[in-house]
Amino acid sequence: MKVIVAQSCGFCPGVRNAITMAEKTLAKEKNVHSLGEIIHNKDVVRKLSAAGLERIEKIEKIKSGTVIIRSHGATAEQIKQIRKKGLKIVDATCVLVKRVQKIAKLLYDQGYKVVMIGDKGHPEVQAVIGSAPDIAVVGEIKDVSNLSKHKKLGIICQTTQSPEHFAEMIAAIAKTNFSELKVINTLCREAIKRQSYAVQLCKKVDIMFILGGLHSANTRKLAELCKKYNKKTFHLQNYKELDKRILSGNNVAGITAGASTPQWIIDDFVENLRRFDARKKIK
Ligand code: SF4
Repeated sequence: MKVIVAQSCGFCPGVRNAITMAEKTLAKEKNVHSLGEIIHNKDVVRKLSAAGLERIEKIEKIKSGTVIIRSHGATAEQIKQIRKKGLKIVDATCVLVKRVQKIAKLLYDQGYKVVMIGDKGHPEVQAVIGSAPDIAVVGEIKDVSNLSKHKKLGIICQTTQSPEHFAEMIAAIAKTNFSELKVINTLCREAIKRQSYAVQLCKKVDIMFILGGLHSANTRKLAELCKKYNKKTFHLQNYKELDKRILSGNNVAGITAGASTPQWIIDDFVENLRRFDARKKIK
């Protein structure tokens, strides 16, 4: 089968940095924890767990050792709690996520009602919410009506949202009862680049595969965008998950991967797909 891989896909600098920091820490220390999944990819999490990284959800459960802050970051309250317990911190928060946290605080200090466009349950959003008081999170157009009582709005966005969604939400917010609106573009260029190459590719292939963790926000966004232009878009974690029956009748496959998908997953998928004969009868 002919396979085309998107020009930009797989690990972004923020994720690569978090994994390198975790590997270096594990090489010289014992008792190393990550606050939540270090990245949203089961294969990488399994590998680092085999090297000794223990994933914990609650800081109270850690007695001693080191805590790695993942690329999504942690709230100011969590950092305070970790310090109070005398634990060592290895901060792998992506610089772009740190920037969003700083901007949120700055907008709040300047008297704006801080509004974050994003998915409330996502760890990055949770960490930003914790960096300034009373941040409102709006995920969809219907959430915007709650903002009408505020006059001075300061808008930021989850780094991995699409520029289209950001623009749609700003247009909806602009119809509320505000007197001043300040919008700071906090989207990640790496995520936008991946989205744009993925959309270009999915339009010219028969079938499109998005590789990456099912909970990874940026991977899900890639799948959501590609589905708009190519109905035969599938979000999978690895080649093992592929039901070969969906390949029949397709000659050209496109592949992209989220920012937390390792290169070995992409290579394995590409090699297997290239070897696959779509004319062969699949039982
Ligand atoms: S997707 Fe962007 S913001 Fe998120 S970790 Fe990667 S570089 Fe940082």
